[in-house]
Amino acid sequence: MTAGNSVPMIEAIGLSKYYGTFAAIRSVTFSVPQGQVAAFLGPNGAGKSTTMKILTGFLAPSEGTARVAGLDIGRDRRPALEQLGYLPENGPLYPEMTPLSLLRFFGTARGLSGATLRERIAGVVDRFALAPVIEKPIHKLSKGYRQRVGMAQCLLHEPAVLIMDEPTGGLDPNQIREVRRTIRELGESKTILLSTHILQEVEAMADRVILIDRGRIAFDGTPREMQGDRASLEEAFHVLTEGGPCAPAAA
Ligand code: ADP
Repeated sequence: MTAGNSVPMIEAIGLSKYYGTFAAIRSVTFSVPQGQVAAFLGPNGAGKSTTMKILTGFLAPSEGTARVAGLDIGRDRRPALEQLGYLPENGPLYPEMTPLSLLRFFGTARGLSGATLRERIAGVVDRFALAPVIEKPIHKLSKGYRQRVGMAQCLLHEPAVLIMDEPTGGLDPNQIREVRRTIRELGESKTILLSTHILQEVEAMADRVILIDRGRIAFDGTPREMQGDRASLEEAFHVLTEGGPCAPAAA
């Protein structure tokens, strides 16, 4: 982890998303400066995945703008995606593909080809020890391998920005340790936004906490500031998200 400077690499500007009359997120605004590892924290259903899908261009917002490395993800989609690695919730999209075909597909879509593409694929296959499963359909792989394939896909084009939706979700304790170690390493050189509802995750990895509750930003600051004079981050989380995930979205 490094101290961030002031260049914003991930920007959510007044993002709202409505499903009918229900607001999944409302006026979500934050920005993550270069070099920072920010945890996007919130109860289940708070709006983390919705916000991340908008930031990564998979979902159009009802209102607002999302920028990656200063590029509008709606208007400048392709150059913005070249700067961005996205680890979706539950691992890679396209589970019917093999890791090799997925990596070729994403690499080509990100402008890689020929020897560069082959070298990058060899690099991530080696880094995430994917050789034994490289030709097997992703949906047949264990959760741990699927997550590693997701990480490989996310890093293949060496993006400056990583957005990771619950990167340790569903993993066993050893796999969680491994993923946290990888994220800490990546945080040395990249700007990272990772969602979680696990407080230890924040303490283990993040410089910054952006807390979302019922579709609205409820806190934005360091883990220490979030805890304040309370006994633990857990207590702070409880106080800041009072009402719990089942309460209706505020009007
Ligand atoms: P989180 O990732 O924090 O668990 P989500 O962003 O997945 O939360 O969901 C936020 C809210 O939006 C939840 O109440 C969820 O049920 C609702 N939601 C998400 N996707 C849809 C959809 N396609 N249609 C209707 N409601 C949705």
